[in-house]
Amino acid sequence: MATCPSRKFMECLQYAAFKHREQRRKDPKETPYVNHVINVSTILSVEAGITDEAVLMAALLHDVVEDTDATFEDVEKLFGPDVCGLVREVTDDKSLEKQERKRLQIVNAATSSCRAKLIKLADKLDNLRDLQINTPTGWTDERREQYFIWAKQVVDNLRGTNAKLELSLDDIFRQRGLL
Ligand code: NDP
Ligand code: ZN
Repeated sequence: MATCPSRKFMECLQYAAFKHREQRRKDPKETPYVNHVINVSTILSVEAGITDEAVLMAALLHDVVEDTDATFEDVEKLFGPDVCGLVREVTDDKSLEKQERKRLQIVNAATSSCRAKLIKLADKLDNLRDLQINTPTGWTDERREQYFIWAKQVVDNLRGTNAKLELSLDDIFRQRGLL
């Protein structure tokens, strides 16, 4: 019998859709932002076989504090400390310079919890899949290539977490000549 998504999972999906409702991704078609967080959660469930509901919920919320007016306090109150702790682990500190944030993603990947590493792997996989078929508006080919190189540095510090996700990422890196 098929499992039914829990009430809290559905509330989480609805909250992410509401908070990101006016945002668009950077691809030329300006895909609604929420498609990305749904992709990340779906990659974890369907491709990686993850059944840890807090991980699947945190995947839906992985950009909600970084990119909307939602706070960690909101997330903790609505979805509890476990989900909130994971969201904290995958949220960049926006008070830092962009280059420093990019550097910290590489450094912090290595010491993240296993559950946060899963979300980071799925996030990079969805972004790289999109970049394989689209160049974001205003980006040069050089900038896109730099993103693949940087993402591989992050992924290299997340290895040993999930074989399926890492194989999918390695296929992409191989196609870009990075492996
Ligand atoms: P950005 O951080 O500006 O953009 C990448 C991020 O945008 C992703 O991590 C993703 O984050 C989000 N995103 C939104 N829409 C998409 C989409 N359709 N596909 C993929 N990602 C999307 O890029 P970078 O700073 O990493 O730029 C790459 C490289 O380019 C840098 O390493 C730097 O060297 C160089 N650069 C060049 C600049 C220039 O003007 N020439 C300026 C800045 C950097 P999320 O999943 O969290 O939403
Ligand atoms: Zn993301």
